Amino acid sequence: MPVIEVTNLHKRYGTTVAVDDVSFTVEEGEIFGILGPNGAGKTTTVECIEGLRRPDSGTVTVLGLDPTSDRGQLRQVVGAQLQESELPENITVAEAIDLYASFYPNPADPAELMAELGLTEKRDTRFEKLSGGQKQRLSIALALVGNPKIAVLDELTTGLDPQARRDTWQLVEKVRARGVTIVLVTHFMDEAERLCDRLALIDGGRVVAIDSPAGLIGRVASEQTLRFRPSSPLDESVLATLPDVTDVTRDGAHYIVTGTGNLPYTVVTTLAAHDVVAAELRMDQASLEDAFVALTGRALDVEAA
Ligand code: ADP
Repeated sequence: MPVIEVTNLHKRYGTTVAVDDVSFTVEEGEIFGILGPNGAGKTTTVECIEGLRRPDSGTVTVLGLDPTSDRGQLRQVVGAQLQESELPENITVAEAIDLYASFYPNPADPAELMAELGLTEKRDTRFEKLSGGQKQRLSIALALVGNPKIAVLDELTTGLDPQARRDTWQLVEKVRARGVTIVLVTHFMDEAERLCDRLALIDGGRVVAIDSPAGLIGRVASEQTLRFRPSSPLDESVLATLPDVTDVTRDGAHYIVTGTGNLPYTVVTTLAAHDVVAAELRMDQASLEDAFVALTGRALDVEAA
């Protein structure tokens, strides 16, 4: 049974339609991504899951509960990241974690949680003195302190430097390894591709597609390109006549082979049969970004209409 079920969700603010028919299910233990440009309706969707907003129509069920009418019960099992403005500037890391732990009947051990999130050294540091990455880690700690079954993480790595982003991704994987189901809201392709088991592409308040990252990429692009320099001269026709190959071109000393199926294997084994090694081998495959552009007709970094 899915842990979250969203069916035909609609939500408008005045005349703005924020969510215009969104349906998906989240299975236990997965990292489910909600990916789309700014203004696509991602946050509104998860706020309906958290019980912070009431849908205009459609239904949302979380662990069998209705987020609007069972909000008290749900808060015990769904961990949400806090917004920066929710914490006083002079509260320390340890104080904040203790405070949030006091809200739950069976909280995690604060010391263990701080250790796991790399916050032990910062336990007596005030919130205002934390770096962006440390604040983000604290906000994850506060989302986890109640030992939730589900964690909702919204725009987790916005504003972080590349190293802090990678650290945060590792952390999310650790959280999942503890058995927590994760809903991850993001507008970053690389983040979604790296972390999510499945994801819903959302654009203009609607679900464009739901699949694994590889599945989404596979839907729009089956072609791959291999580029290499053969270690000794090779007749192009040897490659051009292979079943998986659709095209062979030359760029100086380099060959560029386009094709489908298991192209790298086919090409490399054929080269080996001719005693040729592919030097400087590089493969280009479609990315999630390409999938998004193909499925929505525009780039992700463009604001939703
Ligand atoms: P996302 O999280 O994908 O950026 P949101 O759910 O925040 O999308 O917003 C979807 C649409 O609803 C946007 O057009 C946004 O401007 C609008 N919106 C979001 N929150 C409010 C609000 N509280 N009042 C009015 N409009 C809002």
